[in-house]
Amino acid sequence: MNQAVVSDVMRKPSSHSEFELIHRFFASPNLSFPREGIELGIGDDAALVDVPSNKHLAMSMDVLISDIHFPAEADPSLIANRALAVNLSDLAAMGAEPYCFTLGLVLPQNDEAWLADFSGGLEHLAKKYNCPLVGGDTSRGPLSISIQVQGLVDRDRAARRSGAKEGDRIYVSGTLGDGAIALLALGLDSHLGSEFSLTVNEPNAACLQFFEDAYFKPQPQIEFASNAAKLFSSCIDISDGLQGDLQHILDESEVAGNIRLGDIPYSKSAMCCVNPENRLLAALFGGDDYELCFTVAEKDCVELESIADQLGIRVTCVGGITAGEGIEYLDADGSPVGLNPQAFQHFSAQA
Ligand code: ADP
Ligand code: MG
Repeated sequence: MNQAVVSDVMRKPSSHSEFELIHRFFASPNLSFPREGIELGIGDDAALVDVPSNKHLAMSMDVLISDIHFPAEADPSLIANRALAVNLSDLAAMGAEPYCFTLGLVLPQNDEAWLADFSGGLEHLAKKYNCPLVGGDTSRGPLSISIQVQGLVDRDRAARRSGAKEGDRIYVSGTLGDGAIALLALGLDSHLGSEFSLTVNEPNAACLQFFEDAYFKPQPQIEFASNAAKLFSSCIDISDGLQGDLQHILDESEVAGNIRLGDIPYSKSAMCCVNPENRLLAALFGGDDYELCFTVAEKDCVELESIADQLGIRVTCVGGITAGEGIEYLDADGSPVGLNPQAFQHFSAQA
């Protein structure tokens, strides 16, 4: 790359147009609205926010690069919704309540229609979780979206990965595998190989809508987590597949776990469009589900399930924590199942 190209790529928009663009699309009352504790939002060199003395500030960031993490040609409001949702999912996984967020936006050009749709697409979740946009940075280059979310969590009550204990039960929220199956339904690339395919040529309209929502509108489990995290001994959000993400909990907690394969929950659309082997592949190795995997002491499980019930959130006990290391998969009788070791290693390495 010659010097002229480098400087062009790295150029920031001229300050006048940048200011106007930020003002129009981001410093809007629908996005950078006031909330208690936010002393100063967009417009100065930095935002100013209070952190109550009984809280920790939870911070998490995800960088989404076009055509790697989302299709560049997709509806900008859906891209925006997904970008904020996956960040909020990390706050849910800590049991934190959303507080505010910042946005680092790299744009190939000043496309006002795109920006209007994009900023509009951030509004729904920002309002829903009272989580205003308080700042960011805007630059010129290949499209990428970096969001940092801030959340508040009671001191020493955050749901870490490291607290799982022998005898705890392993739960997941929602249904698994939908994020990976959605890639197939939307005609996008999956890392799960050529065998990973739909059993139908064309999903029916209801399934297609379901998978489009699963991909672009993952539902961060904020409300459930903020009510139930006091009962979690550990928690993670499932962004890389149950196998890889549960393994993080096991590693951090220095324990082992078993998963009853027959208890993994699937959506009706996954049952309709994908065979059992591929459903399992999607759940264990697919990722992009943004559901929670958490562990709960046996004595707390009744209370946990009643909280989920009251909120209308599906939770499923899929296994338990044991001593040792690694994950053991069990069939309906509780006998160990050897998953095809080759496929297993291949996808484990990719997760
Ligand atoms: P500076 O040069 O001091 O970094 P900028 O011109 O980048 O200031 O930004 C001016 C103001 O606009 C700051 O308050 C910054 O947080 C905000 N801002 C810039 N880009 C964005 C964006 N993409 N989203 C939200 N706020 C932004
Ligand atoms: Mg800046």
